[in-house]
Amino acid sequence: MHLPITEEKVFKDPVHNYIHVQDDIIWRLINTPEFQRLRRVRQLGTSYLTFHGAEHSRFSHSLGVYEITRRIISQFERRGYPDWPKEERLLALCAALLHDLGHGPFSHSIEEAFQMNHEDWTCKILLGDTFVNKVLLEVAADFPQRVASVIDKTYEKPIVINLVTSPLDADRMDYLLRDAYYTGVNYGKIDMDRILRMLRPFRDRVVVKESGMHAVEDYLMSRYQMYWQIYFHPVTRSSEIILRQIFRRAKELYHAGYTFHFMVEPLPALFEGKLTVGQYLRLDEALIQTAFLQWTSEEDELLRDLCGRFIHRRLYKYVEIDNIDKETVDAIRQAFRASGLNPAYDLEIDNPTDLPYDEFHSGSSQNNKQILLLDRHDHVRELSEVSDIVRSISGIQHGRYRLYFPEEKVRKVFDTLPEDIKAILGQG
Ligand code: ZN
Repeated sequence: MHLPITEEKVFKDPVHNYIHVQDDIIWRLINTPEFQRLRRVRQLGTSYLTFHGAEHSRFSHSLGVYEITRRIISQFERRGYPDWPKEERLLALCAALLHDLGHGPFSHSIEEAFQMNHEDWTCKILLGDTFVNKVLLEVAADFPQRVASVIDKTYEKPIVINLVTSPLDADRMDYLLRDAYYTGVNYGKIDMDRILRMLRPFRDRVVVKESGMHAVEDYLMSRYQMYWQIYFHPVTRSSEIILRQIFRRAKELYHAGYTFHFMVEPLPALFEGKLTVGQYLRLDEALIQTAFLQWTSEEDELLRDLCGRFIHRRLYKYVEIDNIDKETVDAIRQAFRASGLNPAYDLEIDNPTDLPYDEFHSGSSQNNKQILLLDRHDHVRELSEVSDIVRSISGIQHGRYRLYFPEEKVRKVFDTLPEDIKAILGQG
């Protein structure tokens, strides 16, 4: 049964000022161990090694996404828009609150290292034998499944999915504002109140009133800046590379039968790719960092070195180059091997191009990834058709290549490397 809460509860939040909880179900979901675990997972993974303020958690982000969704829906209800299905309110709020429930510690790196996906884990936690599942079941027998289908984008009413996952959704608005606040950068400070006022439910989509176009342009420019200044920051990428290498090395050692001086549950199940939901929920950043700290005195020299680099922030150096072909990469690896380095660990090439505005490339068919503007005559147009600014940043492939390597190791053998490779590594 779904009850309104007897008295509204509030959380103080630095980004949204207050987060208002008006439903008993939401309050009880927040108080489950699965949701509380998100306090121990940072929103920005290793970014705190670049921006020391970026220690905020997935817990605060999830509350923020819930709050933005709540404000959007209460506006839809207040204005009585007929295209908003009122009976979906609680479902949308639960999906917003729980959308990141399956994020693991340092999730992007751990997902890459172990081929996991946080969305799959979110659904497993919603549907498994968990406290969250029990609370959701009190709404209706099919409610956990309905929340999961919004998360995996199969729910029958696209407008609910669109509200929770779209290029202008509550998730993105919260993380831009929150990440800007905690990193301390000036980008990302979007006029969210104005954007929220301009949103409309229209048929099975959430669209933006045409007069809100400039606020949306500003939002996309902020996002573009945040990707390059924060999310793709070369120092953050360097720490992610080391993190992935630690996972890779530990997994290699585990499968080779190496005896770790320090091992903790559920890491063996992680290495074997056999985590249960219960085991997955025991993974958090406190546990991973404890393991890494203990491994700084492991016998294996490589693992010891990598863990020391991560814990004490001795990151890899990087050089940026416009382009690099496979032959050059092979030549560097070859030269590294000849000089006694280990190219599997001593050289990583990174090319961040996962751009946020690709989706707006005009000409692509209308889909859930587009932002739609609604004019006075109820005509809908895709944003980049109307906005010169958005068109100019659509589909740009701006990426440069970055070569990462342990500087002091490479310096020791630098003189033995071929001249052309010295020229590449010696810049910057
Ligand atoms: Zn999120």
